[in-house]
Amino acid sequence: MLRIAIQTKGRLNEQSIELLREIGIQVDEAKRKFLSKAANFPIEVLYLRDDDIPQVVANGTAQLGIVGLNEVAERGFAVDIAKKLGFGGCRISLAIPKNEQYTGPAYFNGKRIATSYPGVLRKWLEEQGVQAEIEVITGSVEIAPAAGIADCIFDIVSSGGTLVSNGLVEVEKVFFSEAVLIASPSLSAEERAVLEEILFRIESASVSRSQKYLMMNLPAAALDEALTILPALRSPTVIPLATPDWISLHSVVKADELWDKVRQLKAIGAEGILVLNVDKIIP
Ligand code: ATP
Ligand code: MG
Repeated sequence: MLRIAIQTKGRLNEQSIELLREIGIQVDEAKRKFLSKAANFPIEVLYLRDDDIPQVVANGTAQLGIVGLNEVAERGFAVDIAKKLGFGGCRISLAIPKNEQYTGPAYFNGKRIATSYPGVLRKWLEEQGVQAEIEVITGSVEIAPAAGIADCIFDIVSSGGTLVSNGLVEVEKVFFSEAVLIASPSLSAEERAVLEEILFRIESASVSRSQKYLMMNLPAAALDEALTILPALRSPTVIPLATPDWISLHSVVKADELWDKVRQLKAIGAEGILVLNVDKIIP
């Protein structure tokens, strides 16, 4: 039995549960407790504050975890990054009052910087050879300059709206983060096999998200041309229609090429084009 730690509530909770659901691991939300067992997979879900996830995975209380790369970097525990998950994107940036003149990293010499990420900040300051004072605060970092707690901040930014409404401007993007699947460094062979299965399912789910299933009717004479437009997994499926000289063509296309393909197919006589979402693609 493997244990995966995810955020109890907050920005990563919903998408973590959605990811588990997408790969066929069902957790009963209604019965959600500190620890709950998946109905159909040898895995238990442990709900924690995101701050604590790297630690429990490093010490083996949970073998896997879903957490922001920012927390992994800040906590400094030894865990493996098994997979970047493509959600929860953000960055940790330095921001200063908007009426200040920014002159480069040396600006921060002698400044007091408020942050919840002292580890990541200290590393950057050292790299830049800057001497600054770090004020650690755990919440509402963005109000620190106005409150006189610090001169500037080092905080998470996604859209930048919070900075603007607090009269701050982002001057250095220091650390880029997204949600990651982390794993204990010392998994048993059996645990590793479950991890491999999870990675395989995540991969299939993410491939399928970027693909669309296309069905259309086409004059049989246009088939050769259609085949040049539609390279499918192997090749498109061709099904004869009751109407003579017409066929039905099925294929999978990349979502970002969909409209381009549709235009080309219409130009060679395709009709009744049906576009479906793909649930899974198992290569
Ligand atoms: P917890 O109660 O679990 O400690 P929290 O308040 O520390 O939660 P959240 O605000 O829920 O954390 O954010 C969780 C993670 O979501 C962050 O660590 C970061 O990786 C990611 N994230 C993405 N966008 C943002 C954002 N705009 N602000 C904060 N975090 C963000
Ligand atoms: Mg937290």
